[in-house]
Amino acid sequence: GDRIVVKVGTSTLIRQNSKINLEVIKKLAHVLSTLKKDGKDVVLVSSGAIGVGMGVLGIDKRPIKISKQQAVAAVGQAELMQIYNEAFHEYGMSVAQMLITRDIIDYPESHTNVMNSFQELMSMDNAIPIVNENDTVTVSELDHHTKFGDNDQLSAIVTNLVDADLLIMLSDIDGFYSANPLKVPDAHLINSISKINPDIIAAAGGHGTKYGTGGMTTKLKAAELILKHNQQMVLTNGKNPDVIFNILSGDAVGTLFS
Ligand code: ADP
Repeated sequence: GDRIVVKVGTSTLIRQNSKINLEVIKKLAHVLSTLKKDGKDVVLVSSGAIGVGMGVLGIDKRPIKISKQQAVAAVGQAELMQIYNEAFHEYGMSVAQMLITRDIIDYPESHTNVMNSFQELMSMDNAIPIVNENDTVTVSELDHHTKFGDNDQLSAIVTNLVDADLLIMLSDIDGFYSANPLKVPDAHLINSISKINPDIIAAAGGHGTKYGTGGMTTKLKAAELILKHNQQMVLTNGKNPDVIFNILSGDAVGTLFS
């Protein structure tokens, strides 16, 4: 397609040793800049603010207190955007920080404002919007009235909003499996899913790393939104972001929700 949204998960951006995976960020900057130069509209939805903040502040356990998470995310968000900005500058691109909240669904005026901002940014040849949830404003992970809950669903909402053709979700796993491979070693990769039925939902286990948040449950919720809007989503491993080129050239990679 001509307009794509890429979501990158914390598990792809942060190594198990709490260090940020600069190699992945640099490659991502290369791939997305190349697509942009080829005339595609690109939006990046990036998690990782809390993980990066933990590294910066020297905290090794994800804080339980919401206010503490918000503080850590605020530190991490600034650091993360600085890293992205540097990486994208290598390719003549600047990054645009888009911190959004559920207001964009609930309030028509906010919805219009965000849409207009996206349109303007996408019409520029050298700007890449990078979206994250505004953790300072959203109240609590459980408070669904104000919070999307996770960047998986946020990325689907953004894909709907900008009417993109495709959402590419980069995680630490090759796709959606018949069961959580960490627990069921002979689980197999499912190549394509056209409906999120109860069997599929039951196959989504918990999350794998200390940094990842949503696991597969929120990815399935995202996929549901995508399918409802007749859009497509590919879930695959982000360890080498060049995989985005493969997906766009039509290779069967990961799990296609279509
Ligand atoms: P991200 O940070 O990329 O959003 P998460 O850690 O939240 O990633 O989710 C990815 C993890 O979900 C995988 O590493 C895996 O352990 C877990 N998982 C649970 N059930 C499944 C399943 N059916 N197929 C694939 N992964 C699964």
